[in-house]
Amino acid sequence: MNPRVRFAPSPTGNLHIGGARTALFNYLFAKHNNGQFLVRIEDTDLERSKQEYTDQICESMIWLGLDWEEELVYQSKRTQSYQNAIELLLSNGSAYKCFSTKEEIEKHRSETGSFSYPGFWRDRDQADIDKALEIESPFTIRLKIPNEKNTSYHDMIYGEITIENSELDDFIIARSDGSPVYNLTNVVDDSDMGITHVIRGEDHISNTPKQILMYKALDLNVPKFAHLPMILGQDKKRLSKRHGAMGVQTYRDDGFQPEALLNYLSLLGWNPGTEEEIMSFDEIIQKFDLTMVHKKSAVFDEKKLNWISGQHLSQQSNHTIFSNIKVINANWGKSESQDFCLGVIELMKSRSKSLVELIEQSDYYFNDPIDFDEKSVRKTWKNETGIIVETVQSILEKHENWTTESLEETLKTFMAENDLGFGKVMNPIRLALCGTVNGPSLFSIMSLIGQDTCFRRISHALGTL
Ligand code: GLU
Repeated sequence: MNPRVRFAPSPTGNLHIGGARTALFNYLFAKHNNGQFLVRIEDTDLERSKQEYTDQICESMIWLGLDWEEELVYQSKRTQSYQNAIELLLSNGSAYKCFSTKEEIEKHRSETGSFSYPGFWRDRDQADIDKALEIESPFTIRLKIPNEKNTSYHDMIYGEITIENSELDDFIIARSDGSPVYNLTNVVDDSDMGITHVIRGEDHISNTPKQILMYKALDLNVPKFAHLPMILGQDKKRLSKRHGAMGVQTYRDDGFQPEALLNYLSLLGWNPGTEEEIMSFDEIIQKFDLTMVHKKSAVFDEKKLNWISGQHLSQQSNHTIFSNIKVINANWGKSESQDFCLGVIELMKSRSKSLVELIEQSDYYFNDPIDFDEKSVRKTWKNETGIIVETVQSILEKHENWTTESLEETLKTFMAENDLGFGKVMNPIRLALCGTVNGPSLFSIMSLIGQDTCFRRISHALGTL
């Protein structure tokens, strides 16, 4: 059987890490099993739902590459289907009108301490109901929980789950203004959309028995369920912005690449069962197995995300990175040739976690450092440094073959002959050329930025420091 799954966000905010992980696992399950992945917008909460959030969620999904099939389904456009379902439940005796007032229910609560609705209108005489309707008393509609003892289902991740029906009171399925509740709309939609597997966050586990009873009351096929483990922050509290987790769009704006983010998200609650964690999207699809998703909560680890992102970046071709950088910053590298920019990328890609970081850390390839940070100066620029750097300058002036290898050979010979270590020679030169004491091979940097730039920067540093 080819599964049909869906991601069903409520458009009350941007797509965040948790939502993206749910969407991804649905997508992976569909693609791994030659199935279909759909999206439904659960926008019945008219006050909190906004079209702009729907647009942002869709944009983020498209950016991630989680494209869906068929048209978006909006719950707000499906009122008639919900009304039909409610009518059916009323006519087949699975639901009833409840005229209990708030005060009556609260009184019951304070007298018994129980929060369940005791079924005041469950088996009421038709005459009572007619009377209430005649005087236009407001009513809700409640599902009649069957008298059987339990409701059970097999969760593809959590295994057998059984709930005693006594724990489920006759819950409201339509409010007094007639609007249907989530547990009804969700079931009607999943059925109409032909969803075979409902894969969603474990915060919905408690809704599932209610939904199963709803499927049965409507005489519909019950889909399979899989609840994904919660995502926590490092402090083991529910993941939030506080933990550094950001919306998908922010990762995009910070220059993270979709493949890297998807790779990281795929590991939130699952792993391929092998040591290797860096995977292309195709590999993840091929290896993904929903039944191997853990029950244990996953912990969001920003450092690991950065590491994975860096690994993906270093594996990408320089040309690909170049065109991706152009998407987020069209002006980058404009003052230099394309070959020069590709050279910068080659040197910096394995040292950056994201494109934005690569751009930020590459400034010295394009611009002469003007100020030198005090701490680095104190550490690298000693009394004798000026003389050493001047000597290096004069050696370089005579140097003809301006390549990485030949520069390395010349400078290493100079250091060996004068019994000078790297720290005394190369660190000050690096400070002069780059304005920082960290970076990739200095010989490669020198060869890339060229002789004139090197001389100009070294002279400036000698003058300033
Ligand atoms: N709209 C629900 C949510 O965002 C989706 C529940 C479901 O997937 O069934 O949590």
